[in-house]
Amino acid sequence: MKVSVVGCGYVGLVTGMGFVRLGYDVVFVDIDDKKIEMINDARAPIYESGLEELMREFRGKYYATSDYFEAISNSEVTFICVGTPSKKDGSIDLQYVESAARAIGRALKEKDSYHVVVVKSTVLPGTTENTVKPLIEKYSGKKAFEDFGLAMNPEFLREGVALRDFLNPDRIVLGVRDDRTRQILERLYKPIKAPKLFVDIKTAEMIKYASNAFLATKISFANEIGNICKKLGIDSWEVFKGVGLDHRISPHFFRTGIGWGGSCFPKDVKALIRKAEELGEEPLILKAVVEVNEKQPLKLIELLKKHVPKLNGKTVGVLGLAFKPNTDDVRETRAYPIIKKLLEENAKVIAYDPKAMENFRRFYPDVGGKISYATSPGEVLNASDVILIVTEWEEFEGLDYSGKIVIDGRRIRSAEKTAKVYEGVCW
Ligand code: NAD
Repeated sequence: MKVSVVGCGYVGLVTGMGFVRLGYDVVFVDIDDKKIEMINDARAPIYESGLEELMREFRGKYYATSDYFEAISNSEVTFICVGTPSKKDGSIDLQYVESAARAIGRALKEKDSYHVVVVKSTVLPGTTENTVKPLIEKYSGKKAFEDFGLAMNPEFLREGVALRDFLNPDRIVLGVRDDRTRQILERLYKPIKAPKLFVDIKTAEMIKYASNAFLATKISFANEIGNICKKLGIDSWEVFKGVGLDHRISPHFFRTGIGWGGSCFPKDVKALIRKAEELGEEPLILKAVVEVNEKQPLKLIELLKKHVPKLNGKTVGVLGLAFKPNTDDVRETRAYPIIKKLLEENAKVIAYDPKAMENFRRFYPDVGGKISYATSPGEVLNASDVILIVTEWEEFEGLDYSGKIVIDGRRIRSAEKTAKVYEGVCW
């Protein structure tokens, strides 16, 4: 079976290369010529562990183009993996999904054989059937579930371990309406041994939002308890180890720190809040989950000020800019509000991240352009006596923090052992 993937970001590239790994031929489509060129050169436009190696190993089994006609005519199934960012008011911005749907429609018009379109982007319940379907139908002149197949298949991969997650998922959720589409997707995903849950299309869309909202809630809940623990002199990591041993709760994704960021939780929780309000429901828990998360990174500054009351003119070292380790993704990273606050207090900031410095500078020109960047974590330690740990990159474990004041948002054990003054945000 041949597959095409529209949108070559974190999800699209990993999905496409995952299918290549399973033995399929893949055509990637993007509107960004630089990405197309890099993919055709077997170079990954994003950093994701193992991705570029896979691209080099399977060169010839995939290629990238900006031509939808070519991609659709050379494949039987197309996955839509374009971004669904937030608008200013928190609601979902569907412009990329809509333009992909229009272009797929135009290409389908020229194709005689049956083709399945699968929405993998995270979209609110109803989007596939009420937005994507009418656009494809309008531009192709064909009817969904008769002339072409349509499905929704949310993605649950985690950046940093994305390929592993794609190939070994906890479950595959498939929102379908017609048997023909269901059979094609069953065949496509046959090599992956995981429970496959077939549901209707809007249920599949909701499963993704409910999953992300729950995970975000789990972390904000842990942080709220963690903040109480901190005041009581209790190590919240021990608390959640104990709590997580209850099999109804599970220990996974249950750590305290400076909160969640990234390209998914913030925008998805906000989009769900807006949708609930639009429906006349007040999402009390979800709003509190966001509020806790917005306050949490600033706890690091509060703790810092206990030891360094005046930040004016002081050089502060920041270790980590990515929203989590093993990725270069800085979207909604907790580093941003922290560095913004430091600059507001007239501190000088020197930062280091193994993969995300370039992205940070580009994404956040208001603060990213005002700080200095080190070429190694050692350079940060040399430049400053005051260190904030923002991302738990493994290499930060290998450092000697002797003589330093360290305020840790992620729990780096070597800092805890060697720093002159050490404060954990919730421990
Ligand atoms: P991304 O921003 O990294 O990539 C999107 C890509 O789509 C870009 O390369 C962009 O150039 C391309 N694009 C935009 N419009 C296009 C068009 N009309 N035609 C072709 N290409 C187009 O996004 P991402 O992080 O990969 O996320 C994609 C979707 O998957 C989102 O809905 C997101 O919520 C969801 N998701 C993301 C993750 C994650 O960890 N990143 C996990 C699960 C689900």
